[in-house]
Parts: sequence; structure tokens; C-alpha cells
Amino acid sequence: MKLVFATHNKHKFEEVKNKLPDSIALLSLQDIDCNDDIPETGKTIEENASQKSFFIYNKFKINCFADDTALEVDALNGKPGVFSARYAGEKPTFLENMNKLLNDVGENPDRNACFRTVISLVIDGYETQFEGKINGQILSEITGDKGFGYDPIFKPNNYEISFAQMELYQKNEISHRALATEQLIKYLHEIT
Ligand code: IMP
Repeated sequence: MKLVFATHNKHKFEEVKNKLPDSIALLSLQDIDCNDDIPETGKTIEENASQKSFFIYNKFKINCFADDTALEVDALNGKPGVFSARYAGEKPTFLENMNKLLNDVGENPDRNACFRTVISLVIDGYETQFEGKINGQILSEITGDKGFGYDPIFKPNNYEISFAQMELYQKNEISHRALATEQLIKYLHEIT
């Protein structure tokens, strides 16, 4: 089965590709000559994931899926949440987003946070969603240089290292995106 992963994020693509079985031929946006800036203007990550996958399905009429991810920090009442990508401005770097978050959490002893990913799969115009979530702690400083986004300041519970200190395969065994992808794979097995 052929599926497009509707993301321009090479890290996300690599993580998901590494989990999928060979029976699923994963195509990138480059493979279908899509250079569009895909809109994500929803109020929730569920809406954003849908918006991205339907944008590609409607334009290219090809089965596809998209993910949207939020970092939800207890000390910030769930922020940055759906605004995780634009937390420090319109087009911030990963570093700017992390620095703003570390600054906003400050010395607050409550470091609890979670990553939540929603995958929206669109097959023949019909959507199914899958969610993955992992709980962890916001570290007091940037730690590690692997991964992407907020990985260097997030330590999953029951682990002593940040996501950015893990090899891809380790993050890919436990992460929010990995858990959502596992459900996607199970569903695809059921329907094919
Ligand atoms: P989006 O799903 O691409 O909109 O991601 C929202 C924000 O969360 C962006 O700033 C991403 O860099 C960040 N992000 C998404 N997935 C991850 C992840 O697996 N680890 C760390 N940061 C992530």
C-alpha cells in the first residue's frame, strides 16, 4: 500500500519511516512534488492533523496521513499546546522555542509535561485518527543534541536522559509519535 506522509519535517519522516513495515510504501511530499506550505490554523491538534491530511488528499487525490504534536506543560496550564511550533514567534528556531519555555517555567518545581501526537489518516476520503502520548519532565537546561524541536528539554518519565540524548531507535520505542504510529500500523493491517 502507498501512503504519503504529509510533512516537510525530515525528522518526523525518518521516525515514522523507521517504524513502518515494508508492506507500506511511504512517500514524502517531495516524491509527489508538493512544495506547498500546508496550513495549520486549527484550535486543536486534532483539527490541525485533519487540516494537513485533507489538504494533501484534496489537492493530490492520494491516500495520506499527517501528524500534529503538542507539548503540554503543567506549570504553564497546558501551554504551549497547539501553539508549540509558534511559541516564540511566527517562525522561531527550535532554540528560541526552548529558551522561551525554559524562561516561562523558570524555577517552578512542577516540571510535569507531556507530548501528544495526533495522526490523521485519510483513505479514499475517509479519516481515522490515532493518538499517542508520553509523560515526562521539563529539564532545567538544554541537554543533548539529537532529535529535534523540544527534545533537548524533555526527559520521559522512568528514563534518566532527554529525548535528545537518545538514539533514534530508543526514542522511537516510546515516544508520542511512535505510539500513534503503532496504532496506525495496527489499523492498516486490519483493513488490508
Ligand atoms: P508540529 O506537529 O510540527 O506542529 O510540531 C509542533 C511543535 O512541536 C514544533 O515546534 C515541533 O518542533 C515540536 N515537536 C513536534 N514533535 C516533536 C518531537 O517529537 N520532539 C520534540 N519536539 C517536537
